[in-house]
Amino acid sequence: MNRAASAKAPRVKGWCPGAHRPMASGDGLVVRVRPQMSRLDRTQACRLAELAIGYGNGVIDLTSRGNLQIRGVDQDRHGALLEALMDAHLLDATAEDEARRNILTTPFWGQDGLTENLYPRIVAGLRALPNLPAKMGIVLDTGAQPLLSLASGDFRFERGAQTALILRADGAVTGMEISPDTALSALADLAQWFVDSGGAQAGRMRRHLERNALPDGFQGHAPRRTGTTPQPGPCPEGYLLGAGFGAVDARGLIGLFADDAVVGLRCTPWRLFLLEGASKVATDCFVTKPGAHILNVHACPGAPLCEQGEIETRALAEALATRMPKGQSLHVSGCAKGCAHAGPADVTLVGADGKFDLVRHDAAWDEPSARGLSIDDVFKELTQ
Ligand code: SF4
Repeated sequence: MNRAASAKAPRVKGWCPGAHRPMASGDGLVVRVRPQMSRLDRTQACRLAELAIGYGNGVIDLTSRGNLQIRGVDQDRHGALLEALMDAHLLDATAEDEARRNILTTPFWGQDGLTENLYPRIVAGLRALPNLPAKMGIVLDTGAQPLLSLASGDFRFERGAQTALILRADGAVTGMEISPDTALSALADLAQWFVDSGGAQAGRMRRHLERNALPDGFQGHAPRRTGTTPQPGPCPEGYLLGAGFGAVDARGLIGLFADDAVVGLRCTPWRLFLLEGASKVATDCFVTKPGAHILNVHACPGAPLCEQGEIETRALAEALATRMPKGQSLHVSGCAKGCAHAGPADVTLVGADGKFDLVRHDAAWDEPSARGLSIDDVFKELTQ
């Protein structure tokens, strides 16, 4: 049984937190910033880091949808932080605009202008879309090769295998051929079909398509083959840097901008950020080379930082990272909600009543193969 249906299931909020509507956590408010095109220019990046130090705990979360979160904000300073974010052009005008602009953009754009062309057109049309469930999002996976197929999203703009551009409903194998001029109307049509066919009950496109046939007009064109997930190191746009668990040290981030060649920061869903314009990087704060174990494990903040956390997560994940067999994935989750990794891992440890449930080859919310393990039990189970 999916444990989300059980009485012990974690509380799932019916809205997506943002800056206007922050989420309360064990260490204060979590204020989520959604950068336009998943990018900040150098002024914005440095300002966000200063605000994380001045208003938060000095750590910025890089989320699995390429957003950035300031943690540990006092409720009574939230208004002042919003003003500062607005001054830095890091805040939407209203909470509704912020909630609708749930768009993950590939970090690899700039070759032919397609992504830069599409993004403002889609943003301009968001208010005209029908009301969709809060968790639904758009993915602009329009670099030379799709890379975001595993990232959470419901409406996927991708390069086609035989066509320049497609819009694909998440969960469908193929999508509809579109052009930049028809992208917005195609998105509106697909969103309207989702609503009219009762999609709100399923909440997400993929779940809806498990029980409902997508009309032929929305499919028929295959996407290009998905590329491999990038690793830390140089790339044509700059330099990719890794942040273990997506925790970006704000002071370390400011230090990276001492290099005048660095013009911006692009966010990714892979615990990597792209330092735009950098050709080499010297830092102790971030992962600069491929193959680091820490980038292969998932762990949410857990207890005591998250009020739903049943266990401390990251110290254990770090301790176990190097013990995992090569190529096997590990997810340590403070509760069954599984925020750090929305999918299966080879091994998932889930906090429950201060102990650990062990789930193999499934997600945090799935049925465990063992329950109520102590830390010693966990080490024994994983080193057998
Ligand atoms: S999975 Fe982790 S971050 Fe998410 S609600 Fe549970 S304890 Fe909190």
